[in-house]
Amino acid sequence: MTKGNINVSVENIFPLIKKFLYSDHEIFLRELISNATDATLKLKHLTSIGETKTEYGNPQIEIKIDKEGKKLHIIDQGLGMTAEEVEKYINQVAFSGAEEFLDQYKDAAKDSGIIGHFGLGFYSAFMVAEKVEIITKSHKDEPAAHWTCDGSPEFSLEASDKTDRGTEIVLHIAEDSTEFLEEARISELLLKYNKFMPVSIKFGTKEVNVALPEDAPEDATPEKTTVDNIINNPNPAWTKQPTELEDENYKSFYRELYPSQFEDPLFHIHLNVDYPFNLTGILYFPKMTNDLNVQKDKIQLYQNQVFVTDNVEGIVPEFLTMLRGVIDSPDIPLNVSRSYLQADGAVKKISSYITRKVADKLKSLFNSNREDFEAKWDDIKIVIEYGMLSEDKFFEKADAFALYPTVDGAHYTYEELYNKIKAKQTDKDDKLVILYASNKDTQHSYIESAKAKGYEVLMLDSPIVSHLIQKLETTKENISFARVDGDHIDNLIKKDETAISKLSEEEKTTLDALLKEVVPSEKFMVQLEAMDSDASPFIITQPEFMRRMKEMQQTGGGGMNMFGNMPEIHNLIVNTNSELVSEILNTKTKKKQERLITQSLDLARLSQGLLKGEELTNFIKRSYDMIK
Ligand code: ADP
Ligand code: MG
Repeated sequence: MTKGNINVSVENIFPLIKKFLYSDHEIFLRELISNATDATLKLKHLTSIGETKTEYGNPQIEIKIDKEGKKLHIIDQGLGMTAEEVEKYINQVAFSGAEEFLDQYKDAAKDSGIIGHFGLGFYSAFMVAEKVEIITKSHKDEPAAHWTCDGSPEFSLEASDKTDRGTEIVLHIAEDSTEFLEEARISELLLKYNKFMPVSIKFGTKEVNVALPEDAPEDATPEKTTVDNIINNPNPAWTKQPTELEDENYKSFYRELYPSQFEDPLFHIHLNVDYPFNLTGILYFPKMTNDLNVQKDKIQLYQNQVFVTDNVEGIVPEFLTMLRGVIDSPDIPLNVSRSYLQADGAVKKISSYITRKVADKLKSLFNSNREDFEAKWDDIKIVIEYGMLSEDKFFEKADAFALYPTVDGAHYTYEELYNKIKAKQTDKDDKLVILYASNKDTQHSYIESAKAKGYEVLMLDSPIVSHLIQKLETTKENISFARVDGDHIDNLIKKDETAISKLSEEEKTTLDALLKEVVPSEKFMVQLEAMDSDASPFIITQPEFMRRMKEMQQTGGGGMNMFGNMPEIHNLIVNTNSELVSEILNTKTKKKQERLITQSLDLARLSQGLLKGEELTNFIKRSYDMIK
């Protein structure tokens, strides 16, 4: 038996590890199972190139809890280690690796507390164990070795009588970590980190029904038998070629990933690249709601089939974090902080690759089945619109598939829309005016009157639409958006009205004075317009600019606080050609004139949902009095 000192400069770095990585103690199991997997796959490789005499067979990794002995065992049938190799790889490599890691990230860990994802390796066993044993038999023809260490830099190494190839790690679980002796806790960890690892992982046994013979009577009860409980799927869909998979395979993998999701995804994107970085994965577009809140089921990041995190911020462009699925890359540096990750060149490339792939997929879906794409538009628009806003590359590509639906259910691309309206919907400066509504019910009368004039009205109702409009207006040439109930639409109305005012200048002055007396000036800016005689006499519009600023502020426009206390000012357009206006002017008594104006104003407010509370009650009462 050898005794020795592990060559570390820090006297006892284990307490440090415990302290820094407190929140992530659980990753020890992932690390040890990763090592067991590596050892198994290395053996597989050696067998395939004829460098070992042993049979590869059908190796498993087994996790065993010994509750009474307070021990957790991780057993593999991989290539094992000789005593010399334990010296080298455990005493030197693993320990110096851990020390280096600590040196480098001590401060970062203190500052941010987010060193969640790193490769501390074998050493992480000491986060939960007071003593660790390695019993290992190499595939080479050499005696087995037994290494023991209690967390101090001292270790012992002796011969062992283990005869079967592979390594057994025994963790003597520390008093403060007994949760890791609970079956439910280990089960939870195995499902979280090891669900798709490439070597079968056994954890206990389970009872299953034995298949009944063909001629068994209908009411026969099947016999039970006990089999190994294998917790992982070693060949998940993303490791396969797209040509091997049918649509149904993608869907069932989705259910495997997110067992609590009942709805099928809308479509998937299979990622597969090996240059200039390695990355595989499958992304799914789920049905989206307008709710921008963080979702529970997120994209999962794997490194060689080992779960790392479901916080993919920085790796996946932000607008795609609403998607679901898996990304697996050995090239993503995991043992670094988030800010480092975001600055990493390889990671940036990954992000733009994913953006491109998503855009390409959307384009091909649109081209191959436009009808289906249109049907799904409402469920995917939020991602696409968000992408157009946040990624310029995506914005450019989106011209090929971004849709602009109308209130009547047609869907145009930007180009189609442009061609459709360019002859008709231009203002006096020859700017293209794109009309849109955000609510079919509250803006009903405005939509109808715009349609009656032959205008196309888009239906844009995503929460971020005002940002998108702003972006389109600054990117596309010479266009402006106008909500049907907004004041920009006046430009259109004015332009196509050749109607001449029926009123004389004198009558206009009288009307203006009358209106000023009755209409509260802090709420309405009154404008006299000569419009079609059958257009509404009183129309309330909201200044487009103010409304948009407010909306953008609500969805996080940033830096626009000065609009926070903006008064609610509306435009009141009075159609001087309407019969009602003539009637107001011709009414004899001032009192009756005022009554007519008040009633008309209230009707206009009512149609905009602006009449509330006491004013609404008074209006209803007054209306009943009138028809009595
Ligand atoms: P890494 O896995 O990144 O190399 P670790 O600290 O996890 O670092 O492990 C250090 C080394 O110890 C491994 O590279 C490997 O050579 C050896 N090792 C650890 N666990 C096993 C195992 N179960 N079987 C064989 N070798 C192992
Ligand atoms: Mg390792």
